[in-house]
Amino acid sequence: MTVTKKINIKKPELLIPAGNLEKLHTAVLYGADAVYIGIAGLSLRAQSAEMSLADLADGVRKAHARNVKVYGAANTFARNADLEQARQIIPELTGIGLDALIVSDPGMIKLIRSIVPQLPIHLSTQANTTNAEAVRFWRDQGVRRIVLARELNLKEIGEIAAAVPEVELELFVHGAMCMAYSGRCYLSAFFNRRSANQGDCSQPCRWEYRLQEATRPAEPLLLEEDERYSYLLSSKDLCLIEHLPEIISSGVVSLKIEGRMKSSYYVAMVTRTYRQALDSLSQNPEGYHNNPQWMEELNKISNRGYTTGFAFAAEKINATNPDIKHIQTHEPAGTVLEYDASQKRILLDVRNHLAAGDELELLLPQETVKIHTGTMIDLNGDNLSAAHGGNRIYLPLDGEAPVGALVRKQVNCSGNHSL
Ligand code: SF4
Repeated sequence: MTVTKKINIKKPELLIPAGNLEKLHTAVLYGADAVYIGIAGLSLRAQSAEMSLADLADGVRKAHARNVKVYGAANTFARNADLEQARQIIPELTGIGLDALIVSDPGMIKLIRSIVPQLPIHLSTQANTTNAEAVRFWRDQGVRRIVLARELNLKEIGEIAAAVPEVELELFVHGAMCMAYSGRCYLSAFFNRRSANQGDCSQPCRWEYRLQEATRPAEPLLLEEDERYSYLLSSKDLCLIEHLPEIISSGVVSLKIEGRMKSSYYVAMVTRTYRQALDSLSQNPEGYHNNPQWMEELNKISNRGYTTGFAFAAEKINATNPDIKHIQTHEPAGTVLEYDASQKRILLDVRNHLAAGDELELLLPQETVKIHTGTMIDLNGDNLSAAHGGNRIYLPLDGEAPVGALVRKQVNCSGNHSL
């Protein structure tokens, strides 16, 4: 899309998920303005996507050194017992230097305001804020920013921004879509005791279902919309990169990417792509056009097909996805551990199987560079015909590569991998 009319562009923040220190480093390297991180014991995410207070402090130091903000997610829906734990943890946040806390639960907001009143509060999307009066209500409780409900469209978002301009608005622009209203769902907890409301959803809404009449157990009926399966509970992933001018014009100040459980490869690709698009838009708003390469890059991370979600709809169920599996054309090959300038080579921490002759791509923050695996050398200096996850190998590279840069490999398949 080429933008012809004059648009009001105020460069928004690009907010990236960081489930651990490695992903924080990746987000910073590839262009995040801010990252969000689960705080162990307070977050609406599984433990694998939370950080201890020590790691959090380390992450904040590293991010601030690159002028990147850090928001701590404390968005659990607290039970009474959780409040006791929160009372222990919250005072320890003082001194870590977090830029804000993301919170869902009114009780937690009250607790945080009383213990660390200086810490800005962002209201999580789980709080399901859908109108201007609700925004005013939360403003009066001391909330600085609101992550709007994902069910709102851009017209409604623009109306809210105009009505309550003193409150910052944040919007999800990319990532997995949940079929439950603002993520409030019991399906996963019911099926396998992994509660979505505690950040541990196993996504059973994407499974295949059959209808069974009680006296005919051997004759289950497949709930089928076409020859493959029923998509009635299965959503495509959200992707709004082709609509950044409209989104920014609506008045949101922060564009949020979903996926604290996703891989460093996902973090790198989504951050780099949205960074390039936002920079292009702010540098030349009138001449802005979508670069087809951005969508091509986003198609190279595991996805379920993309949708614009609710951005342009009054109220609808998300478009369903004809591909039951993830679409996956590339997989992570490894991470750069060092660049050896004297020998013009990188040391790669290998993630997946590599064979001599595989064509790899090095993902630099600004560009993609091809690497050939004709010469793979191990730490003893021996030539290898193959390498496996956990190996460390040298690969030739003329230009420099930063530590933490990702390398990917084409796989040309669809599957259940989660990248
Ligand atoms: S099971 Fe599906 S609908 Fe329910 S919380 Fe998980 S992703 Fe959302």
